[in-house]
Amino acid sequence: MKRRKCSRCGVNKSLLREFLPGATECMHCRVGKPMPPTVYDVQINDHSFKMVFEGEPTTWEVFQRIYGERELVTSAVLEALVWPGAQVLELGACFGYFTLQFADLVGGTGKVVAVEGKDSYFHLLCRNLEGNQVVNVLPKNTFIHTVPNWKSKYRGKHAPAMPLTQFINRIYLNRSPDLIFMDIEGYEHDAIADLCKSGWLKAARPTLVWEIHGPVDEGDPDNGEIITYLDGQGYQVHRAGDLNIGIHG
Ligand SMILES: [Zn+2]
Repeated sequence: MKRRKCSRCGVNKSLLREFLPGATECMHCRVGKPMPPTVYDVQINDHSFKMVFEGEPTTWEVFQRIYGERELVTSAVLEALVWPGAQVLELGACFGYFTLQFADLVGGTGKVVAVEGKDSYFHLLCRNLEGNQVVNVLPKNTFIHTVPNWKSKYRGKHAPAMPLTQFINRIYLNRSPDLIFMDIEGYEHDAIADLCKSGWLKAARPTLVWEIHGPVDEGDPDNGEIITYLDGQGYQVHRAGDLNIGIHG
């Protein structure tokens, strides 16, 4: 494997594993610095797309996205669950890494609604959709929570906070989402409880996919309570890696 000397720490490192494409500093020296305006070619499974992260702090999570190595189990699970023509609701779309995979999977006859409550993420999400000429994704700058003035570091100035049932009723006029994918930092509990209490979940029966959280910095991590709620709605919850998959019936 090719190696190169980091321009900052001077250590020889693997070109592929330790450097962002085009960077002269190694990742260990780059972490925390703002990402450059570079457009990166990302490849994961059969999906190829372009992504920018301009201005966001450099993190190993960003590095993993650029090399198509982030959350591979999640990508494989979503690939198995989403079909051409499906309607997908994605909560916590972040920079659009999964959004762009969904856009591919649902194709021209499907639709993705991508929700992101943090301003800087939403801005990059929209740039990444435009950069790939994606037309089957509707991005929404909304923070999903049952308390209308809920304060969170993930909620930007422009994002209204709204219960999930209310959001779905506003957006999906004709047909309900077939799959809801949530990566919302522990707020899954609030979102799923709202869908149960409103009666929406029992009627629509979408597949639900969410992460099992370790320590969360916000939100309520009680996964056990979510599973109990879903059990009462006729759902079975399966696990794959760090994911929960709730399927009706
Ligand atoms: Zn270095």
